[in-house]
Amino acid sequence: MTAPFDTLAGWLQEHALLPLLYALGLMQWEDISFGWALFAVYGAAQVVLTFAICMPLEHWRPVERWPDARAVTVDILYTFFSRVGLLPLVTFVLFYQAQVALNGFLADQGWVPPTLERLFPFLLGRPVLTFCLYVVILDFSDYWRHRLSHVFGWWYALHALHHAQRQMTFWSDDRNHLLDEIIAFAWFTAVALLIGIPPMQFPLLVLLLRLLESLSHANVRLSFGWIGERLLVSPRFHRAHHGTTASGRQSVNYGAILPWWDMLFRTADFSPTYVPTGDPTAEEALATGSYAAQQWAGLRRMLRIRGAPLNDVTLRTQVGTPEGGGRYNLKQV
Ligand SMILES: [Zn+2]
Ligand SMILES: [Zn+2]
Repeated sequence: MTAPFDTLAGWLQEHALLPLLYALGLMQWEDISFGWALFAVYGAAQVVLTFAICMPLEHWRPVERWPDARAVTVDILYTFFSRVGLLPLVTFVLFYQAQVALNGFLADQGWVPPTLERLFPFLLGRPVLTFCLYVVILDFSDYWRHRLSHVFGWWYALHALHHAQRQMTFWSDDRNHLLDEIIAFAWFTAVALLIGIPPMQFPLLVLLLRLLESLSHANVRLSFGWIGERLLVSPRFHRAHHGTTASGRQSVNYGAILPWWDMLFRTADFSPTYVPTGDPTAEEALATGSYAAQQWAGLRRMLRIRGAPLNDVTLRTQVGTPEGGGRYNLKQV
């Protein structure tokens, strides 16, 4: 089953990664370059799988139809850049390096590296249960990372890029500012190191989580029913987080995979509606600009409001509607 992936990864390693590492004088990474290539291939396969699942769903029961869906194109670019390029690099290569360095440091001090099994011995010999617990812990940490990104003005300035999309589809999960993405990876990696996720499991875990997150961004009328909505984040649940009235501090439904944290910390919204998406406070470049224009606009916005609490810069004088491609005045309130 994995043979075609291995063959492709071998080809990629031989023809792309090794020449690149050699040219950059980074041959010490040669040993792990196959793993890197393998997770890049898994990333590409995951994009194909996501497409195969979400595309029919979006055709089946779309929430919205747009005569001109050009704004979606840049999200496709974000997805390939993130899943085939950035994620394999960060979740395998950098994570592996960080774990080797941390474990080496701890061994020098005479300490044993932390693992979940050491903390909870009943997990020993139960890899599936341990894997599920990794998911729960990572998702809990991600809830707080996401929630805090809506609290601090400078952070939301970056995260607004994700919320600015008015034509939300399954491609929209990866439309993030590069700095926001780096913070998210650092946060995730720190938690993963703390609970000792093995280096081959971490990228697989991230692949699985991102597959579900793509589905939750899909332009589809799909909720999981009363019980299902409380077990797993659905497209309807995450859509409420992207609602035009839910940007900045007023947002709801911060959970990525599990709605439990929103229920626990009273930020859940289970109303059975499908709201229009977008951030009326975001400048137009964040919504419909090119990749470079969006990144630049996010950075400018962050520098402009750095240090100011979010409420002072919520900038809410609306002079158009998202559906009409309206423009919005930015004003201190
Ligand atoms: Zn958000
Ligand atoms: Zn989202």
